Amino acid sequence: MHLLLSDPDLAPEVLARGREPVADAARRVLDRLRERIARDGLDGGAVAAEVARLPGAVRAELVRLDRPAYPEVVNATGVLLHTNLGRAPLPPVPSPVVGGYLALEYDLETGRRGQRLAPLRRKMAELFGAPSALMVNNNAAALLLILSALARDREVVVSRGQLIEIGGSFRLPEVMAASGARLVEVGCTNRTHLRDYEAAIGEATAAFLVAHRSNFRIVGFTAEPTLAELSALARTWKLPLLVDQGSGCLYDLGRWGLPHEETVAELLAAGADLVCFSGDKLLGGPQAGIVVGAERWVEPLARHPLYRALRPDKAALAWMDRVLAAHRDGRLEEIPLYAMLGQSVDGLRRRARRLGRRLRQAGVPARGTATRAVVGGGTTPDSTLPSYGLAVPGGQAVAERLRRHQPPVVARLEEDLVVLDLRTVRPEQDAVVAAALVAAYRIASDRQDGGR
Ligand SMILES: *Cc1c(COP(=O)(O)O)cnc(C)c1O
Repeated sequence: MHLLLSDPDLAPEVLARGREPVADAARRVLDRLRERIARDGLDGGAVAAEVARLPGAVRAELVRLDRPAYPEVVNATGVLLHTNLGRAPLPPVPSPVVGGYLALEYDLETGRRGQRLAPLRRKMAELFGAPSALMVNNNAAALLLILSALARDREVVVSRGQLIEIGGSFRLPEVMAASGARLVEVGCTNRTHLRDYEAAIGEATAAFLVAHRSNFRIVGFTAEPTLAELSALARTWKLPLLVDQGSGCLYDLGRWGLPHEETVAELLAAGADLVCFSGDKLLGGPQAGIVVGAERWVEPLARHPLYRALRPDKAALAWMDRVLAAHRDGRLEEIPLYAMLGQSVDGLRRRARRLGRRLRQAGVPARGTATRAVVGGGTTPDSTLPSYGLAVPGGQAVAERLRRHQPPVVARLEEDLVVLDLRTVRPEQDAVVAAALVAAYRIASDRQDGGR
C-alpha cells in the first residue's frame, strides 16, 4: 500500500484529492487482486504483471467514483418512454433554475405564506378540463391517496380483467391492500358485465374502480360495460367512479399515427368522477401522479394526512409548470416526447442517409434501415409507429462498446445487427452517435483482428 501510494503515477491524484480517498480506492483494488490470486491461483509471473498494473487500476477506480450516478445517455432504442431510461425525456432545465430560491409557498403580493400547490393546481385543472386537480409523487401515490381517503376499511369493486401489474412493482391489489381498502373482484378475466358490478354493491361499498390496461390487451371473446353505463350505475348508488387511466393521454393519438386511447377529458366527459395518471408518460413531464375531478372528491385528498408524505418536490413542480405551459400554448415541439413523435419518417431517413455516408467514409459499414418505434413505458401496448435508423454488424461487442462510450449510446440488438433508431435520438445528438459508432466499431474490429 505504501509503495502504491508513493507511485509517481498516482502523485497527481494524491495531490488533487488528498491521501485518504486514493488510499480507499487502492484498498479496494488490492482486495480484488488478493481475491483473484486466491481464486485463480495466479503464478509469480502473473502476479508481478498485475502488480505493475496497479497504479492504472487505482486511477480507473477513481474515475469510476467520479462518474455521475445517473449519466445522460443517447437513447437509440426507438422506445420513446423507456422505463429504464427515465420514461419521458425532460425539456431543458426550467427557469428559474430550480437550484435557487423559489416563491414556493410565498405570496409575493402580500409577503405572507402562500399555498404551495394552488397555482399549479389551477393550471392542471384548466389543461385537463376538470373542476379540480392535485399532484403527488407518482401515479401509484395518487391511487394510494385516493383509496386511503375515499375507501379505507370499505370495499372497492374492480373487474378481474383489470387487476394490472405495471413495471413489476405496481400491482393494483397490493396498492389497494396498502391503502386499507378491500378489493372486491367481479366478472372474469375476459368478460365482466354491468350486472356483475351491480351484484357486488353492498353496505360497505365505497367506489367502483376502472384500471386502464396500459401494457397488455385482452382480445377475443371479451365484454366490459362502457364507462357511461358504469357511471350511471355508480350515480344511482351515490358511489364515486374512479379511473386509473395511467398514461395521462391528452390528445387524439391518431395525430401521430397511433391507435386512439381515451383521453383524460373524454373519461371525465363519460362520467368518471376521479381520474389519475402519471406525469412522465404521455404528458411528457417529470415523475408525478395527477388526480383530476370534481372538487368534492379531490379536496378530501388534498386534506388527507398522507398527502404531506406523497407531495412532489419543488423541482418536479417547477418542471411540471413548464410542461403544462407548453401544452397550453400548443408549443409541443418544446416537449421532447412530442418533438420525437412529430418527426417525419422522411426527415429521419434524411438524417440516417447523412450519418450513414459519414460512417462509411470512416470505415463503419452502416446502412439505413426502416424500423418500428414504440411509445412504451406502459402506454399504447402492441402499437408501433414507422421510424428509420441505422444498422451496423457486430452484435453484442459493438452494442457494449456503444454503452461504454462517453456519453453512452443505448441501441437495440437484432440477431447480429446493432440497430439505432433515430426517432429517439435528438438531431443534435447525431454527431455523438457517429463518434460512438466509429470508436465502437474500430475497437471491436481491432479485437477481432487481434484474435485471429
Ligand atoms: C403507469 C401506470 C401506473 C403506475 O404509475 P407510476 O407513475 O409509475 O406510479 C399505474 N396504473 C396505470 C394504469 C399505469 O399505466
